[in-house]
Amino acid sequence: MSTIATIESHDQGKPFTQARSDIEDAARYFEYYAGAADKLEGESIPVGKKSLNLTTREPYGVSGQIIPWNFPLSITARGVAPALVAGNTVVVKPAPTTPLSALRLADICSDAGVPDGVVNIVTGGAEPGVALSSHTSVDQLTFTGSVSTGEAVMQSAAETITPVTLELGGKNPAIVMSDADLDDASFWIAKGIFTNAGQICSAADRAVVHESIYDEFVDRIVARAESYTLGPGKEDPDMGPLNHAEHFESVLDYVEIGINEGATLETGGEPLDRDGYFLPPTVFSDVDNDMRIAQEEIFGPVLTVIPFSDREEAIEIANGVEFGLTGGVFSRDITQALNVARNIEAGSVYVNEWFGGSIETPFGGTKKSGIGREKGFEALDSYLQTKSISVNLDKRNR
Ligand code: NAD
Repeated sequence: MSTIATIESHDQGKPFTQARSDIEDAARYFEYYAGAADKLEGESIPVGKKSLNLTTREPYGVSGQIIPWNFPLSITARGVAPALVAGNTVVVKPAPTTPLSALRLADICSDAGVPDGVVNIVTGGAEPGVALSSHTSVDQLTFTGSVSTGEAVMQSAAETITPVTLELGGKNPAIVMSDADLDDASFWIAKGIFTNAGQICSAADRAVVHESIYDEFVDRIVARAESYTLGPGKEDPDMGPLNHAEHFESVLDYVEIGINEGATLETGGEPLDRDGYFLPPTVFSDVDNDMRIAQEEIFGPVLTVIPFSDREEAIEIANGVEFGLTGGVFSRDITQALNVARNIEAGSVYVNEWFGGSIETPFGGTKKSGIGREKGFEALDSYLQTKSISVNLDKRNR
């Protein structure tokens, strides 16, 4: 476990402790779905006395899986484990900057006795991605990545009528009601946006904060942001670098855009004066939901803090983006919290926490955040197709 965590930390840049936790998650996916292997049951459907109807659940065949660079092994395991348990073979294409842990996984599968040809890894960037998503021998596709690439994958899949699961981006709202425990809310929102240097689709990108506690919340989140240690993953700091140069430039561009749009840069925004793509935790206040920094996925450690005056406005701001992956609400009043949670347009909603749920709970997006669900039992539906078998029980039934 430590060896593969070291590989992941070196390849991706994330702190060793976070890499280790990702590898534990990856192992858990295999453990969890292995338990489902003998429970993929069909049904017997009553259709009258003259016939018997049975359904069986069958694999598609070859599952093509295209993976991003932010959680290389855990997202690979999230797709590979249920696909194999459902009886498929897999062809995985990791991201070009983070292929090493998937290659190691293939070795581990081979050592464990998985037959040749069942787990296949193809490295490279867009070119093998296009080849995989348009290949006539691929029977099912799982893609995790950006909206624009997701659109391209879906278009390719349309040519061969191949079913796709898309796990795309987010611009997730964390609503802080006036009665929230601010120590808790600032803890969870800092964790939600600064973990993995903000390179998480389900990050707490937008803190939507009641005007009566806005200034105090900003003070608290800035204090938390400024307490983070930064460094290479192997030194196991609180936060590592951004993954690669092009992405680093894109995140820095967004900092510039935020300043030009008139938001107040409360802390961060300046890269560290050292080798590597280090941007400290960054907080913008006075953000309007129409600004680009509130609408577009930055995928870095950049929090936007947006004020609201009443619950309806909070929900309007929360839902006023093209994404719908995760959302959250902080309140001491559980009735209020659940009312808000019900109104957030997202596949997952967290109440008084962030990154809730686990291997066992379904995860996926609404709106442009995607199609289908990964994780939990529900994910198996993406890797199985149902066959209905009808049997004639009455010779006179012709
Ligand atoms: P990306 O879309 O650039 O790349 C994702 C994968 O697609 C990579 O393996 C890449 O090589 C491949 N690819 C690139 N062009 C392709 C093409 N034309 N056809 C087929 N494959 C192609 O995304 P990224 O920058 O690696 O990852 C960041 C994005 O992933 C963010 O938008 C983030 O929100 C999203 N993401 C979503 C989830 C989720 O579960 N919803 C999880 C992690 C990341």
